[in-house]
Amino acid sequence: MLKGKTALVTGSTSGIGLGIATRLAAEGANIVLNGFGEPAQIEAVRRQLEGKHPVQVVYDGADMTKPDSIAAMVAGAVKKFGAVDVLVNNAGIQHVAPVDEFPPEKWDAIIAINLSSAFHTTRAALPAMKKKRWGRIVNIASAHALVASPFKSAYVSAKHGLAGLTKTVALEVAQQGITVNAICPGYVLTPLVERQIPDTAKARGISEEQVVRDVILAAQPTKRFVGVEEVAALAAYLCSGAAASITGALLSIDGGWTAE
Ligand code: NAD
Repeated sequence: MLKGKTALVTGSTSGIGLGIATRLAAEGANIVLNGFGEPAQIEAVRRQLEGKHPVQVVYDGADMTKPDSIAAMVAGAVKKFGAVDVLVNNAGIQHVAPVDEFPPEKWDAIIAINLSSAFHTTRAALPAMKKKRWGRIVNIASAHALVASPFKSAYVSAKHGLAGLTKTVALEVAQQGITVNAICPGYVLTPLVERQIPDTAKARGISEEQVVRDVILAAQPTKRFVGVEEVAALAAYLCSGAAASITGALLSIDGGWTAE
């Protein structure tokens, strides 16, 4: 489906981003991996994807808090492959604390990585997409782009902002063959969620088991985590020709969370 196209997935060394990169490689896209991690592990993923599929996979470790590095990463991909045809803005971090105890440096980092990086990648990738009159931008937002939870002020603000960016850019490029959408997952069991369990327990004064049962899965009527491959399948669908008229949409994949 994506043969000859190139997909850049930010934060694709782990979790949802890795799942999306894996799926898009299976669809035939060349991949630009990004994110932090052990160099040997990242190289193993890169080789595994190239070994399994007839695609090229490169890695760029650009830090999503650094606009110059982001611009250089996108420019490098455009130079090598001709365009970033599919841009998946996925990199994200979380911090859980009451707003009056929220460390300002954590606020700044979350806004930079979860929101501003998507502006920087989008502005750099759009000119080549416009030239080809084809492009797909998929922003990995969250149920927290639609509703709030206590103790996540920065994350909820960034994700609501990402929803606004999604809709705005979608309108700007609607007649140029480029779609821009946000996927809004509920809880997916990745390192990001595993790491916030102890902090949520502390902020709410409950045990970690209670956090999983009474906070995390309580939010999802299905009472189960959303699968990484389910999110990746939705991203792949948005890249297909069948999804050409879906743009500016905030698509929930949250086990019914935001229906309540
Ligand atoms: P994860 O921690 O498994 O992966 C996060 C990725 O982002 C990693 O590859 C990491 O290296 C990268 N990253 C972090 N800081 C970076 C930086 N400064 N520069 C470059 N890369 C950086 O988390 P995940 O759960 O897979 O989250 C991926 C996205 O999905 C995030 O935007 C998150 O908000 C969103 N999301 C996750 C869930 C969930 O329940 N896991 C739910 C809704 C939305």
